[in-house]
Amino acid sequence: MPKVSRNHRYKFKKEPPEGFSKIEHALNSFSEKMKEAEKQTLEVNRPKYESTWKITMLNHQRSRYIFDLYYKRKLISRKLYDWLIANKFADKELIAKWKKNGYEKLCCLQCIQVGNTNQQTTCICRVPKASMNGSDNEQGKHIRCKNCGCRGCASTD
Ligand SMILES: [Zn+2]
Ligand SMILES: [Zn+2]
Repeated sequence: MPKVSRNHRYKFKKEPPEGFSKIEHALNSFSEKMKEAEKQTLEVNRPKYESTWKITMLNHQRSRYIFDLYYKRKLISRKLYDWLIANKFADKELIAKWKKNGYEKLCCLQCIQVGNTNQQTTCICRVPKASMNGSDNEQGKHIRCKNCGCRGCASTD
């Protein structure tokens, strides 16, 4: 009988590069949380659009974790980083935005998407808190965008 690796929870086409075992635990805990979030049903009275918030948030956190490992903490190799992207552990397009000026904290791609009306609409969470004035500023503290539940992701926040 072939030996089955107990260590790897996932089935990969290609064996993960060196260094994977060091971060596997963290990745597992992300996917557990995601599974839980998928099962979760919304509390009554909550608007429907909130149902994807948790998943989007977890996806964001996992991409950020991998982004930091490679670009900030320099703890993983390029090979492992590419492999993680290829295996969808991190959102390549979101990370590409984080490298751009003004998008360092972007929550999700939806919040910068051009609406179907072809009108560029800036999501409320992209508006810097500092530019919300007076009473709006008070209000700004409680704002969450509909796309992902973001409370503000402008670079200056
Ligand atoms: Zn946002
Ligand atoms: Zn968002």
